[in-house]
Amino acid sequence: MAIKVGVIGYGTIGKRVADAVKLQDDMELVGVTAHSYNYKMLVAVQKKIPIYSMNGKEEIEKNGVVCVGDVNDLIKQVDIIVDCTPKKIGKENKEKYYVPSKVKAIFQGGEKADIGEVSFTAQCNYDSAVGKDYIRVVSCNTTGLARTLNEVHKKYGIKEVQATMIRRGADPWDIYHGPINAIVPVLELPSHHGPDVRTVLDVEIFTTAISVSSTLMHLHTLIVDCEREPNVEETIKMFQDATRIRVVDNASKVRSTAEIMEFAKDLGRDRSDMPEIVVWKEAIGVHKNKLLYMQAVHQESDVVCENIDAIRAATGFTDGPKSIEMTNKTLCIDECKKFF
Ligand code: NAD
Repeated sequence: MAIKVGVIGYGTIGKRVADAVKLQDDMELVGVTAHSYNYKMLVAVQKKIPIYSMNGKEEIEKNGVVCVGDVNDLIKQVDIIVDCTPKKIGKENKEKYYVPSKVKAIFQGGEKADIGEVSFTAQCNYDSAVGKDYIRVVSCNTTGLARTLNEVHKKYGIKEVQATMIRRGADPWDIYHGPINAIVPVLELPSHHGPDVRTVLDVEIFTTAISVSSTLMHLHTLIVDCEREPNVEETIKMFQDATRIRVVDNASKVRSTAEIMEFAKDLGRDRSDMPEIVVWKEAIGVHKNKLLYMQAVHQESDVVCENIDAIRAATGFTDGPKSIEMTNKTLCIDECKKFF
C-alpha cells in the first residue's frame, strides 16, 4: 500500500517535495493546498495535482483553478502531511489541524525544534525518527552542516567546530528580501545554526552568519578541531564516498556558486537543483589537528530528499540506508560524481 501524502504550503520547498513524492514507488501524492492564487497553481493543474483550498476557494476558482476540496478534505485522506508553510505557520497548523485529526506531520526548519518529537537529517539520525508522529526536517544550512560534519565525526572524531555561514540574501524568485547592496552580519552569537546542528548531531559547534547580495546558494567555511589528526587526501575520498555530498574542483572550473548552479542546469536536474552539499577539493586543508573546508548549500533543494526519508521513517520504514538509496535513485542524487 502506497503511503498517502498531502503537502500543505506549495511554495519553494512544498512544490519540490510534491514532485519528489510523485516519483516514489511507495508513495502517492493525494494533493497540495492553495493559500492564494498564483502561477504555482497553474503548474499544479498542468501536473494534474489535485488542489485543496487553504483559505477559501473563491479567489482561486475566480481565476479558473478548480479546488477539489478544502484542507480538511485533504487531511482526511492522507497518512501523513508535509507542512511546507512559512515559519510559525506550521505550529499553528499542528494545533489547528494535525493534532485534532491525529494525522502524522513533517515540518520544516523554519519551525522551532520543539514542534517535532525529533529533528531529522537522514544520514545522522534516521533511526530515531522511525514511527514518530511529528518530525522536523532541519533547515537547509543545518542540513548542510550536519551532512558533512557527520562524515568528519565518524572518521576523525570532532572536539569542536567553528563555522561561518555566508547566506544568500533571498531565494531567486523573491522580490521582497535582500540585501541588494550590503553585507549584513547576523548580530547574534552564536547564530541559531550551531544549536540547531546539535538537534541531529552531538558535536560541540559555534556558528556565525552573514547575509550577502546573492540568491545562488549559501557558502559555509568550517574549522573542525578533530580528535585524530586529519589528512587532506583521506578527507577528499571520505566526502567523495559519502552520499549527498559532491566534491568539485578547480580543474573542472567549478569555482563558485554560480558555476555550481550552471552545472546543475547542464546535468538537466529538475528545476536546476543541486541537492548534494558541494565541497571544494582545493579548499580542504589541514593545520595540526584542525580540518578546514568550504562547502556550498543549495537552499531550495537540499532538504527535499530529507523530507522523503522523513515520510518513510514516520510511517515505519526501518531501513534508513535503504530509504536514502531509494530517494537518491528517483532524484538522480549522486549522479555524475567525479573521482580524482
Ligand atoms: P515559501 O514562501 O516559498 O512557500 C510557502 C508556501 O506556503 C507559499 O506557497 C504560501 O502561499 C503558503 N502559505 C502561506 N501561508 C499559509 C498558510 N497559513 N497556510 C497554508 N499555506 C500557506 O516558503 P519556503 O521557502 O518554501 O519555506 C517553507 C519552510 O521551509 C519554512 O519553514 C522555511 O524556513 C523552510 N525552508 C526554506 C528554505 C528556502 O531556502 N526557501 C530552505 C529550507 C527550509
